[in-house]
Amino acid sequence: MFDSLSDKLDKALHVLKGHGQITEVNVAETLKEVRRALVDADVNFKIAKDFTNTVKEKALGQDVLKSLKPSQLMVKIVKDELTDLMGGDAEGINLSGQPSIILMSGLQGSGKTTFSGKLANFLKNKKTKKPLLVACDVYRPAAIDQLHVVGDQIGVEVYSNKEEKNPVKIAEAAIAHAKANGFNVVIIDTAGRLAVDEQMMNEISDIHQAIEPQETLFVVDAMTGQDAVNTAKAFNDRLNFDGVILTKLDGDTRGGAAISIKSVVNKPIKFIGTGEKMEAIDVFYPNRMADRILGMGDVVSLVERAQEQYDEEEARRIQKKIAKNKFGFDDFLKQIQQVKKMGNMKDLMGMIPGAGKMMKDVDIDDDAFKHIEAIIHSMTPLERENPNMINSSRKRRIGKGSGTSVQEVNQLLKQFTQMSKMMKMMQGGGGKQMMNMMKN
Ligand code: GDP
Repeated sequence: MFDSLSDKLDKALHVLKGHGQITEVNVAETLKEVRRALVDADVNFKIAKDFTNTVKEKALGQDVLKSLKPSQLMVKIVKDELTDLMGGDAEGINLSGQPSIILMSGLQGSGKTTFSGKLANFLKNKKTKKPLLVACDVYRPAAIDQLHVVGDQIGVEVYSNKEEKNPVKIAEAAIAHAKANGFNVVIIDTAGRLAVDEQMMNEISDIHQAIEPQETLFVVDAMTGQDAVNTAKAFNDRLNFDGVILTKLDGDTRGGAAISIKSVVNKPIKFIGTGEKMEAIDVFYPNRMADRILGMGDVVSLVERAQEQYDEEEARRIQKKIAKNKFGFDDFLKQIQQVKKMGNMKDLMGMIPGAGKMMKDVDIDDDAFKHIEAIIHSMTPLERENPNMINSSRKRRIGKGSGTSVQEVNQLLKQFTQMSKMMKMMQGGGGKQMMNMMKN
């Protein structure tokens, strides 16, 4: 996610490395590069300019703390400003209705249907919610079928009526059906067009007025950059929507939409889509996104995703093992099985501090773990429990057995040690230690 932007910002901010203090000259130089990086990422020029002006004011107005190097101070200011630009705090969705009605809007192909499914699945997993999906696209029968496929996949009922050509009537009938059958969330997937047009706007605005949803969400493909921002503006002018859903952030997105959209429509990004799978949904946290953009990783989201997949008992067992320094390769293997369920690998790696940069040029797919699994399978049970005992001759044997090389075995052992350390720190509440590790 945002590889190129992260890379350029990293380079820009490193200009300050080696400088003992922040001066007009070195700040100007750094910020020129930051601005260029933002514009290259398809951030609107004016937003980029305002952004760097604010950062400049803050940077020059601050005494550099003794403990903080100028480059670190700059990273902090940039991070805080990026967070602000993207919305400050995370904002949830309003689920206060009986039932809560959520209306999806957006262009065709933006990912509305996929996201409707993801959101239904996300809410269903919260146990207290019983969602109903509603197909309100009266033009494309295939769109209705697609929602049914999604519904079947996640075990959520889909309401549709191919005979009815008035979307308002479908929506109203669906809400009545929800009330009669104990559904407490109704997610309405509407028709989209390839471009903003008057008829589409009238239609969605009619539905909006008739059903008065608690939450109107605008879904947009992040890959479309500044176009995404313009489309958001057009929809917001008509619908005054409540929040934005940015999809396809797993792709080759440059980041412009994520950074600019809030300041243009003044509505928060609420969720992001990071893949085609139903699990590839994340709550949007501006501060965590800023961390990711700056290559600082997003361990918190990673852990949360993991928690969603893990059963609690297993998590407790692992925690105990970590606390006792007994986390071994068998546990690691089990975790890999879980991680595979969590979604796109490259995206997950981007959440680990430093790893995103390291992995940038590596083509990771869901088979990425095959080698790792082969290596672990070639270890003896004792070795898996006590990785420290794996000496050179054992490494050679494991490499041979798994059809990999000693280097690969070494690499895995190193990663394993780092990961164990990190998990231990996170458990021990070692936030400070963790910060230090991220800085290095
Ligand atoms: P709709 O026309 O707005 O309902 O869009 P769809 O839900 O049909 O999505 C259009 C295409 O984008 C489909 O091929 C989806 O699988 C894909 N898609 C949706 N969300 C994401 C996402 O977050 N990441 C990726 N990579 N693909 C997505």
